[in-house]
Amino acid sequence: MLPFKLVYSDAYYLPIGAHVFPAEKYRLVHQRLLSDHIAEPADIVTPEPAADADVLLVHTADYVHKLQTGTLSHTEELQLEVPYSPELVDAFWLAAGGSIAAARLAMKDGVALSIGGGFHHAFPDHGEGFCMIHDVAIAIRRLQKDGAIQRAMTVDCDVHDGNGTAAIFPPINDPAALLPSNSPGTAVQADHPAHGVFTISLHQQHNYPAVKPPSSIDVNLPDGTGDAAYLSWLDNALSSGLRRFTPDLICYIAGADPYREDQLGGLALTIEGLKQRDRLVFQAAKARGIPVMVTYAGGYARHVDDTVTIHCNTVVAAREAFA
Ligand SMILES: [Zn+2]
Repeated sequence: MLPFKLVYSDAYYLPIGAHVFPAEKYRLVHQRLLSDHIAEPADIVTPEPAADADVLLVHTADYVHKLQTGTLSHTEELQLEVPYSPELVDAFWLAAGGSIAAARLAMKDGVALSIGGGFHHAFPDHGEGFCMIHDVAIAIRRLQKDGAIQRAMTVDCDVHDGNGTAAIFPPINDPAALLPSNSPGTAVQADHPAHGVFTISLHQQHNYPAVKPPSSIDVNLPDGTGDAAYLSWLDNALSSGLRRFTPDLICYIAGADPYREDQLGGLALTIEGLKQRDRLVFQAAKARGIPVMVTYAGGYARHVDDTVTIHCNTVVAAREAFA
């Protein structure tokens, strides 16, 4: 049995028909985790959909209303890049509920993964890039509202820039916000003047989205970046971020698309390099006693089996780090 929980439902499947986004990957990852004895059924927690009130902590009432009544404009539907349906809305609400559950379980067990989520291209008032609502931001805001956390750090290793995350949590300019929360003499109220969220995004510079709003730390990687350079950049970003900011929770967005065989990515990481990446994030968190919640985001490998392997390896890396 794993020393942490996995959040999963067959209803994570996104009903989008034939699409470059392999919506069946969640089911395939779940199956592989069980068949390879990485996890057992008792490790799995079934999520509930997010409440509308939770979604409204991040998204505008107008946008939520359009989603729930099927009244997106044609342009808004095109921007989403997945075909709108009420069933798709349900799947995204469930993903958000899954991320809330994973965040709560991470606070309890030190780490938890949702076998889904990571919809980092969703903005408060619109969706884009296959992302309807921002499950990770919703989870952060919900845990802040509950008083379970004050400060969170997003570590986004999807090959695409986390533009929605950066728009929802723009970088904090107040230097007081960057002091560790346990610094002597630092007033608790003063250290998160705005939203208390520090954002790190490692992404391929010349890739979607064209406009990349600033994160707290952006690492714009050149085309073809391989394992060694990537891991070195990630190590630097984590060290620098965790020197400047002490979060109560790390939200790791573990996209599988920096893989060299990815159809929508232009980096050159190997499957082993991606596992090393996962280890780096988990070890950085574990060494500092910071809980980590994980979501999966993108993954468009030519062979879906590779995407499944990369996502399963993230569970293995967590097991190794948190055993
Ligand atoms: Zn991506």
